[in-house]
Parts: sequence; structure tokens; C-alpha cells
Amino acid sequence: MKTVTILGSTGSIGQNTLEVIRHLPRKFKVYGLSTNTNIEILYKQINEFSPEVVGVNDINQAKRLEKKLKNKIKVFVGQEGIEELAQKKVGILVMAISGSSALLPLMKAIDKQKNIALANKESLVMAGPLIIKKAKEKNTKIIPVDSEQSAIWQCLEGKDITTLKKIYLTASGGPLREVSKKEFKNISLNKVLNHPCWKMGKKVTVDSATLMNKGLELFETMYLFDVEISQIDILIHPEAIVHSMVEFIDGTILAQMSVTDMRIPIQYALSYPQKFECFLRPLDFFKIKRLSFLKPDFNKFPCLALAYEAAKVKGTLPVVLNTSNEVVVEAFLEKRIDFLSIPKIIEKVMSLHKNIKNPTLKDILAVHFWTKNETKRLINKIRYV
Ligand code: MG
Repeated sequence: MKTVTILGSTGSIGQNTLEVIRHLPRKFKVYGLSTNTNIEILYKQINEFSPEVVGVNDINQAKRLEKKLKNKIKVFVGQEGIEELAQKKVGILVMAISGSSALLPLMKAIDKQKNIALANKESLVMAGPLIIKKAKEKNTKIIPVDSEQSAIWQCLEGKDITTLKKIYLTASGGPLREVSKKEFKNISLNKVLNHPCWKMGKKVTVDSATLMNKGLELFETMYLFDVEISQIDILIHPEAIVHSMVEFIDGTILAQMSVTDMRIPIQYALSYPQKFECFLRPLDFFKIKRLSFLKPDFNKFPCLALAYEAAKVKGTLPVVLNTSNEVVVEAFLEKRIDFLSIPKIIEKVMSLHKNIKNPTLKDILAVHFWTKNETKRLINKIRYV
């Protein structure tokens, strides 16, 4: 039995992780769960999985949960509480907190855990070099959960990394692949949130629509596999069956395929290095019929171009890209800005930033807060003009 803590257990990845565990009750035991604010779902999860400890980021919600639980389970409260929970040693810690708020608990977790299944990409975008360096120092395995990164990682297993030539990072193309750019101006939130292949949280679904999600994955790929941006090619692959590919110097290419379901990479991250029976339907090649690959359209999806720029420049520019994106996506979800304003505002904030090369964690956090404020200021300007 492997003990598991899931930070962010009430989000999409967290719930899917528990679904995997539900099907493998003799393999995994839940030790800890946490949520930002969603104590209703957390309470149900507590009843089903009987964790030993839980964490709630929102202090008021934490108090409500403590009352409900009648102090039978220890509740870690607030950001510091989540960081403390991240350090409670388990077989594997699943980092499923969404957005930049995963960064500090992740850094704390690396100090104490031997295995971390990392579903959060924003932390890597912001502080990839620091995270990888610390993981190496502490001998902590970072196991990717993101389907593309899991695919690359599986293709590289047991291979001599010095013979790796290129990585083909695949992208479904998101919910707006077939929508013309002319229609972007008045596109509804519902259409943006309606992803054809993947069922995910709202933030990552909007990121898929702008292709920023693939942009953020460029950083994940660069840092997790220690490659340069020039070694990564993005392929739009609408069937979303090939989850990424790697090419070696001898011309051979390996691809990883599976049904389009996050529970596949989640289960492998949990079970690694073992493989367990999968409860999902198998892939049916006769139904798929064909696999297609297209070039990404940088003109139609300027967020992807912005991500490339930040990935080339490095330093703190990726922090600005990521944080600004987080703030504008939230504003878009609240219908405070339109779809086309998303890349425009990010580009503007990036242009105002003075880049810091080789930043410390302190620099990163300072740029993160600067970006938050600057982006909010620009959003308000747009809103009231
Ligand atoms: Mg992905």
C-alpha cells in the first residue's frame, strides 16, 4: 500500500486522482487531502476515503469544516497549513493545486517527499530551474501528471538522454481550433469552456482555447527534460491520441498513445514504476481511423507566440507571462474582459517588465506580485474606457 496526499483534491485533477484510487483500493491509501475553499466536496471525500489529515487554504472555510468534523481529523489551516501538510511524509504527494499558489507548497514538499506527482504547470513556468535544482539536491523524484509530459517521460524511460534529438509536443488545438479568428471578438464563455477532447478545470480549458496551455507546457518540457526551446516542436493533433513523441539521433521516433483521459497519466504517476490494470475502455483504432498533425497558427493564437518569446528570454519574463495570464483568465471567466483582450493585456504587461536573469525565489515572488497589480490595473483601464 502506497500512502498518498493530494493537495488540491477538490479540483479536476484531484477528483480524477481519487477516482483512480477508488478503483485500486488495495494499492493506495489516502493520507491527506486539501482544498482551497471547497469544503463541501472535501467533506464528502473525507467520508469516503478517511484521510488522517486535511488542509483548507481559506481560513473561514477551514473553521466551518473543523466544526463539521467535530475535531475528529486534524485540519491544517491557511497557506502555512497547506505548506505544513505538504511536508508530511507519504509514499507519493500529488500536487494538484491549480495556478501559481502551488509554488510555495511544492518547494516545501520537495524538502521532505521522495516522490511528487506534479500536475501543476504554473509552478514550473515560474520557477522551473529552482524546482529542478532543489529536487536534484534532495533526491526527490518529480513525476509528471500532465498527459504530454507523462508521454515524453514514458518515451524516454530507460533511454540515453544524450541521444535525444527532438520532442514533438502535441496539442489538441483546443475548443477554438475550427472557429475563425473573426468570431473571436464576440465569442461566448460557454463556447470557450466547451473542450472537444478533455474534461478539465475552467482555467486550463480557457488556456487550451488561447493555446496558452501549450505555451506553458513548453516550459514544463524544457525544465523536466532539460532541453532547449529549439528542440521542441508543437504539433496540433486534433484526435488527441498521441500524447507526445520523442525523436532520437538515429532517426527513430517513439510516441505514447492512449484514450484521451487524464486518469491514464494520473494512474501511471501514482503506480510508477509499476503498472496496474486500467479500468477505462481501451483505445479503438478502427473508430479513430486517422491521426492528423497540423502546424500551430501563431497569428490566430498570439498567446503561444508570447510563450515562445518568454521561453527564449527566460529569467523572470515567464513569471510575468504566467501570472498575467492567470489574472486575465480570471477576469475573462468573470466576464470582465473579452477573449481578444487576453493576449493583448499579457503582451502589454510583458513589455513593461524589466527582466531579471537567474532570479531567486524572492525575485520571482516580487515579480509575481508586481505582475498581478499591473495586470489588474490594465484590466480596470480597459473596463472603464
Ligand atoms: Mg497537457
